[in-house]
Amino acid sequence: MPRLTPQEIDAYLAGPHVAHFASIREDGSPHVSPVWYQWEDGKVTVVSGDAAVKTRNVRRNPRVALSVATDEWPYQYVILEGDATVSNDNLKDAVRRIFSRYEGAERGEQDAADLAEGDQKLVAIEIDLGIANTVLLERDVLGSGSTGRSQAICRMHYSNRITTQLAWQSLQVFADFDARVGGRSGFVQTGYLVVVNEADQGGLERNVAMHQEMGVPTSVVSPDDLAKLAPMVTLYDDERAAWEPNSGYADPYQVTVSYAARAREAGAVIASRNPAAGIDTASGRVQSVVTAAGDRVATDTIIVAAGPWSKQILAGVGVDVPLLPVRHQVATVARPVELVPQHPTVGDISQSFSFRPDGSNFTTMGFGDDEEQSDPDAYPQGIDPSAAASARERLARRIPSMSDSYYRGGWSGLFTTTPDWHPILDSVPGVEGLFCAVGFSGHGFKLSPAISKAVAELVAEGKARDVDLSPLRFNRFAEGDLLDSSYRYRVLA
Ligand SMILES: Cc1cc2nc3c(=O)[nH]c(=O)nc-3n(C[C@H](O)[C@H](O)[C@H](O)COP(=O)(O)OP(=O)(O)OC[C@H]3O[C@@H](n4cnc5c(N)ncnc54)[C@H](O)[C@@H]3O)c2cc1C
Repeated sequence: MPRLTPQEIDAYLAGPHVAHFASIREDGSPHVSPVWYQWEDGKVTVVSGDAAVKTRNVRRNPRVALSVATDEWPYQYVILEGDATVSNDNLKDAVRRIFSRYEGAERGEQDAADLAEGDQKLVAIEIDLGIANTVLLERDVLGSGSTGRSQAICRMHYSNRITTQLAWQSLQVFADFDARVGGRSGFVQTGYLVVVNEADQGGLERNVAMHQEMGVPTSVVSPDDLAKLAPMVTLYDDERAAWEPNSGYADPYQVTVSYAARAREAGAVIASRNPAAGIDTASGRVQSVVTAAGDRVATDTIIVAAGPWSKQILAGVGVDVPLLPVRHQVATVARPVELVPQHPTVGDISQSFSFRPDGSNFTTMGFGDDEEQSDPDAYPQGIDPSAAASARERLARRIPSMSDSYYRGGWSGLFTTTPDWHPILDSVPGVEGLFCAVGFSGHGFKLSPAISKAVAELVAEGKARDVDLSPLRFNRFAEGDLLDSSYRYRVLA
């Protein structure tokens, strides 16, 4: 039987087939019953009796499956899995929409109206689809790639709507992490200042206007405003600035392990020190991942998200992806806290570097010349003393009292760049079942909560629910439809 594409699945589920709803009884055995259903925006709703076996099962164990099958040629079936919730909130609407699908609009309306007259023995069961049986193969330990070396600055200042939207959604997750994900993100709200020189003033103003239209709290600030917001910062005559009060930085390791803990709780297997050595395909479809230890993980869905190693992995299935790792350096200085007790995070486009506070008495600076590194396993991981000294001079020019800071140490990491310095979030053309989330070009950490959700939806449902990922599609380079940036300091994107 040929597999359905996501669009075919969407069209198929839109039809009023009778589905079979499988829930888990108290003793672990399955309970299966026929249901009518409604499919919309990746969510399935069914209506059930309040005291029905399936409702009681779902209240105890939310994991359910729905099998939608035709018994006529050409045979088709779709099996959906997810976590269900029982609620009366949308019951009337669910009854109208579901019963209308199967009995016609008039009867559906009538059934909903009858319900309003008093029968409250029904409930709506909503199934949020998810993917079960997920395995994460990690070559080393979590956070050992670019993420663990990240400066982890979280700001929304971008030249494009898509990245602004992903950054804004993500910031709200970082800032409310325990409630939304569970665990700690280490987010510290410092405010974010973008500084440009006159040549980039037009780009700055355009970007801020776009962000404001999208609901992002930000504004262009005058030297007088800045003197109140961040009096330690010097703005020179030929410079302009914008301010984001909500932005700051987070702790990339905490974020990674918190997500991993939630994933494990939801049933994912995280296999550390277990590199993927290859991907097996047959008839243009993925079949399995082969590990370096020689094990085979059979699957019909693979997401390559291997940072700077992704190019090699995709080359193994004959896919050429334009990724180029470049080295970026981070140095920490001890701050003279009596002179500079705190300062905001700064994207200093004017001087091509960035800095942020690090805890109560350190400041980290990010800088580098984007030197290309072909081998992610062999690049200079320390920092260049002369480059660190130059960054410290720029820091002291921006915050003069920082001339009393002293150097504490540093490291280098890799930005995995694409030709337009924006990620690729897409299915991989030509290999069915293969997806990639790669090429974050030195600014992917701040986007990660929204990206993980959008890519999960892309894989599970065929498209992201509330972002249009098409500007980040795989083929945009071949099509010559690259994203723009207002600035030559490309990591600001
Ligand atoms: C110095 C530096 C500063 C940065 N500053 C910021 C910043 O301020 N703000 C921001 O938003 N972003 C920043 N970034 C960028 C951000 O950190 C990255 O975009 C993001 O961490 C990329 O995450 P990733 O999961 O794609 O890659 P990675 O974190 O590299 O993860 C890839 C993982 O895949 C694993 N892997 C590789 N090969 C295999 C294999 N064959 N099998 C199994 N596993 C494999 C690796 O071990 C690794 O753990 C910075 C990056 C660097 C290097």
